Amino acid sequence: MNTFMQMAIDEARHGIKHNHGGPFGAIVVKDGKVLSKTHNEVLKNNDPTAHAEVLAIRQASEILERFDLSDCEIYTSSEPCPMCLAAIYWARIKTVYYGSNKIDVASIGFDDSLFYRYIRGETQDQGLKLVNTDRDECLKLLREWSEKSDKQMY
Ligand SMILES: [Zn+2]
Repeated sequence: MNTFMQMAIDEARHGIKHNHGGPFGAIVVKDGKVLSKTHNEVLKNNDPTAHAEVLAIRQASEILERFDLSDCEIYTSSEPCPMCLAAIYWARIKTVYYGSNKIDVASIGFDDSLFYRYIRGETQDQGLKLVNTDRDECLKLLREWSEKSDKQMY
């Protein structure tokens, strides 16, 4: 049993016990040392984005005082949902260790297969309207950013 995965599982159990959220825990590791330990807090915080991986990334970034976690790894008790996967990409993390997979998770009611299908362009989700409006005005923002001489890219 991997020590970091065991920690992620312990975190998830803590969350279950205290009704903080679903059975999910995550650990961010750098150079073999734990930077952050989190569990799902969707219920505790009334925050639909408070998934363990997102919280672990936020905490690790705060500790390192940088948004680039390319020298870190993440351990998560379950395969990341599309939101967490995107957060992992944005954080530039190169390796994700996960325990149960998305099919296992769907079997207990956390089904994100619709999101995966939507991203792959395999479905038009009738529950989500994606409406493109006022593009020209918003393009001005992109130009402002592009022309900003002291911007920090990430
Ligand atoms: Zn997630």
